[in-house]
Amino acid sequence: MTATRIRLTFRGRVQGVGFRPYVWRTVKAYPLTGFVRNTGAGVDVELQGDAQQLRACRRALTLHLPPLARVDTLDETRLPLIETETQFEIADSQGKASGARIPTDIATCPNCLNELFDGSDRRYRYAFTNCTDCGPRYTITHSLPYDRAETSMSAFELCPACREEYEDPASRRFHAEPNACPQCGPRLMLTDRFGQLLKGDPIAGALQIIGMGRSVAMKGLGGFHLVCDATRADAVERLRGQKKRQQKPLAVMVLNVESARRLCHVSDAEAEALASVSRPIVLLSKKEDIDALLPGVAPGLSTLGVMLPYTPMQWLLFHEALGRPQGSTWRDEACDRVWVMTSANPSGEPIVTNNQEARERLNQVADVFLLHNRNIVVRCDDSVLALHDGQVLMHRRARGYAPDPVLLQNDGPNVLATGVPAKNTLTVLRGREAFVSQHVGDVGDSLSCQAMEEVCHHLLELTAVRPEAIACDLDPSHYPSELAEELSGHFGVPLIHVQHQHAHIGAVLAEHGRSGPVLGLALDAVGLGDDGKAWGGELLRCAGGEFTRLGQLAPLPLIGGTRAVREPWLMAVGLLCAMGEDAEAQRRFGRHPAWPALAPQLGKPFDGWLTSSLALWTGAIAALAGLCKEQRFDNEAQQKLEEMAEDCAPLPGGWRMVDGQLDLSPLVRHLLTLEDDACAIASLWHATLAAALGDWTVQAARQADLGTVAIAGGCCANRRLMSLLLERLTEAGLSVLRPIALPPNDGGLSLGQAWVARERLLAARPKA
Ligand SMILES: [Zn+2]
Ligand SMILES: [Zn+2]
Repeated sequence: MTATRIRLTFRGRVQGVGFRPYVWRTVKAYPLTGFVRNTGAGVDVELQGDAQQLRACRRALTLHLPPLARVDTLDETRLPLIETETQFEIADSQGKASGARIPTDIATCPNCLNELFDGSDRRYRYAFTNCTDCGPRYTITHSLPYDRAETSMSAFELCPACREEYEDPASRRFHAEPNACPQCGPRLMLTDRFGQLLKGDPIAGALQIIGMGRSVAMKGLGGFHLVCDATRADAVERLRGQKKRQQKPLAVMVLNVESARRLCHVSDAEAEALASVSRPIVLLSKKEDIDALLPGVAPGLSTLGVMLPYTPMQWLLFHEALGRPQGSTWRDEACDRVWVMTSANPSGEPIVTNNQEARERLNQVADVFLLHNRNIVVRCDDSVLALHDGQVLMHRRARGYAPDPVLLQNDGPNVLATGVPAKNTLTVLRGREAFVSQHVGDVGDSLSCQAMEEVCHHLLELTAVRPEAIACDLDPSHYPSELAEELSGHFGVPLIHVQHQHAHIGAVLAEHGRSGPVLGLALDAVGLGDDGKAWGGELLRCAGGEFTRLGQLAPLPLIGGTRAVREPWLMAVGLLCAMGEDAEAQRRFGRHPAWPALAPQLGKPFDGWLTSSLALWTGAIAALAGLCKEQRFDNEAQQKLEEMAEDCAPLPGGWRMVDGQLDLSPLVRHLLTLEDDACAIASLWHATLAAALGDWTVQAARQADLGTVAIAGGCCANRRLMSLLLERLTEAGLSVLRPIALPPNDGGLSLGQAWVARERLLAARPKA
């Protein structure tokens, strides 16, 4: 027998997922010595013994990984023998983070649920039950390596029973960093709005308040939720009134997939997404008459955002509401409880995370506060997605997904990108990994700027990256660009500006491991173009870090400036005036209170901003159809117009193409004759727009000799448009790339900025 010693270096999602006990259990079956330990870069396993046994063990280690683990690379090194070694053990962590990753927060696992609802278990009804397969991770971690001392659990000393589990490699809680029990861990409490502790069981107390039609501010994983009974009109109206969100659709929580099926149509793929360990909000198509059952939750819309419980606290609310049932069958049976579960952020501000802040900022919003004393280290909203033809369409990527990296095709300089003010995210590129932060949200007021800066520092801390360049938008006037400039000075590295729509296409290329050349089709809201105009409906030839514009949608005047983004009727006026239909504009909108202020600008040459934004074109049509004059929530105009549309044939001759410009005014002229037949307008708009975009794209692809189209931008959320368009493009023999892991909207933009910046740095390097 020949003794050998090797080191296996695992990289990927290998910390905080029970990887070391898995290795320990696996290796124990072989007569080998050595150790396993967390390092700053991943997990190292050193094995020593008979070469044949060693090979068998190495193979076994890659066969049955723990459910949450993902190995991206595995390297092997030969080492000299250590004669004194007698056993295989789990060694202490070593080193500061350089390549390791923090796992995402994971929904409570079935084993923990069994304990949670077992009257004889020491964790019966304990709201912070977790194990190596589940529980909080990202939202409690300050820095790497992922050890209890670096999390907000460091404030809680393990009791003897918990310590035994923590130190026993055979236990499900071996090195479960957030391990806790009622004796030693965090506690729940219920307070009134003055911070006064309320007596009795906190879960029962909170439920009583919900039953009275009032709302509870509940501290969750990545922030507070506002909770009320979704079936009570008075409760929902009260919560909305307090939250200043008059129309915005609210998400609901139900017990399980069977309960969701009572409200909505749920496909197999949707059921799988709902019950996945990431537990996102899934946008489901409502059953008929559901608005009557859930008055005011998502009025007038065909979809409802639904999620299932993912923390013990949420499970406990259902358990309590059902009268604390025994056994586990209740967990799978349909239940009629439906609760509004919406992020607690007073109108547009970032989500609230700490107890003191909750009492101050939610004082007018919540009647009681269901709190606990485990700190939230970083904000993280619920993720939102939809499924379309079985494919994921990400709307908001946050809890359960961040900070899992997108894997890139190639290595390159480390870059930080700061995104844009709408649906902000940040991205750090580290080697082949692209860490896209959780959704930060809209960045405008001082609170949200502060929240963004916190996420930025946390992301740099967790990835241990010192950026070699900072990427940001072309527009220097908003906070994400200001922060980028500041950081570029701080690190003494170049600041690289990336055009908005180019970044959208860049994000798609990054995700698909391509570098071009491709034809980029940006179907978008607004972003500053390199000619100083407001772009948003563009055809770009993209190759590496560079692009050239091949075409655009016919530009419309932005009447009333950026106000037109929120007030589609202003876009309709702009569209009509651009077509020389000033009288028609006055006939349709002349009675609007803002008209008299507008009138003097009309009838003379327009000297304001022009925009080629498809979202704004769509807004104009929604306003002409009488569906949405002013948007009360993001994307309302497009959503209303899409929901109104039915299948129909495109209007022949509805568009023109001149010098790469796509002009839809022939279609608009026809739509004007339909007066206020919203359904006919919406149907014809979608069918003709898809045909026109298809025609335009195919022609440009042929002229530029490109076989691949990358599509991105906020309008990709329009499922009807995308279906029709994709059919045309694939029929024409083009292959199509779309965002999958990231949202097509501005939430994915920071990845594109970082990727384009890296491509430019690589191109500028002297060739070897
Ligand atoms: Zn568990
Ligand atoms: Zn304990």
